Amino acid sequence: MESLKVSSLGTQTAPKKTHCVVCGGEEFLLRKTVPFWATGLPSTGQLYTSITGKDAFYLIQCVKCRLIFLDPIPEKSYFDTIYEASGCYPEGGDQRLKRDLEILGSHRGEGKILEVGIGNCLFLNLAREQGWDVYAVELNPNNVNTAQKLGFNNVYLGTVESAPFKEGSFDCVHMSSVLEHVLDPKATIMKLQAFLKPGGVLMLSAIPNIDSFYHRFIETVLGNNSFIVGFGCAPHLTWIPPFHLFYFNRHNLKMLIESCNLKVLEDHCRDHIYWEPHEETTSQALTSTRLGELCREIWSDKSAPEEKLEKYFGRIVQILLPAMTGAVLPHLNEIEMALDTVSDLAYLAKKVA
Ligand SMILES: [Zn+2]
Repeated sequence: MESLKVSSLGTQTAPKKTHCVVCGGEEFLLRKTVPFWATGLPSTGQLYTSITGKDAFYLIQCVKCRLIFLDPIPEKSYFDTIYEASGCYPEGGDQRLKRDLEILGSHRGEGKILEVGIGNCLFLNLAREQGWDVYAVELNPNNVNTAQKLGFNNVYLGTVESAPFKEGSFDCVHMSSVLEHVLDPKATIMKLQAFLKPGGVLMLSAIPNIDSFYHRFIETVLGNNSFIVGFGCAPHLTWIPPFHLFYFNRHNLKMLIESCNLKVLEDHCRDHIYWEPHEETTSQALTSTRLGELCREIWSDKSAPEEKLEKYFGRIVQILLPAMTGAVLPHLNEIEMALDTVSDLAYLAKKVA
């Protein structure tokens, strides 16, 4: 396996020119090349090659606004395949979701709320408990089934763009840990603001900040090996194409929101509670149980040793690494706070008209 060196902002012009979704810029630099092996999921890379002809994931950066994104971004069918193969993401972050709901509630005390990406229904439950009329959009059919079993009957299976909700009908919209995954963030935010009533509010939260201390630290310490980064420390915060397509900073995210008929009312980027959900998932007990289960599976597999190594290596790393690196996260958080940089972005915006 080839090991690439960490480099700062490159000077090589990206092979294909396109328009920046935030500022309309047409000039880009190649910011990062992520080899397929480094994602830990080689099949997503092979499929990407068959569609785009590219031999790696190339992340390019807009010279004007510094937005970074995957180029090219394939059609939706590619993502349907890879998300189905990789399973669903839990929403996580109980404390953060409570905070988001409190913030929304302080602007619109009651009414209809739309949740985009429901995860394990934490936010839906919180909102229902507080008397909100709850609606949701979700891409994963298993998550939709779970929600229906819990009595949430207004969960639409599909994308924001195809959701059948009436425009101008919601008091609040909440979207957490989603924007970095969508194919066209501007189109998504435009649609969400269209769903809002005049004066309705949108909360976007837990969007990784590419200009954070955390991101720079992890990239420097672990180099280009996003395989390690992705499965080791807080996986939502670093280079993980093709799942994270867009990489924002405080400035260009605000610009994007305000180009969509919305006005940013509050900046919650400094709340610093991103790591809260990760601590329990990196506990030793969980690791040894999962490792024990995996070892039993490996023992019963009669394939050749080399074959087994190839087959199980990714899963072994996936289990071991969080236990080895998880302890460092609270310290990084502390440093981030001291620096007053922010690891993840959160804005509350109001529909302008
Ligand atoms: Zn730009």
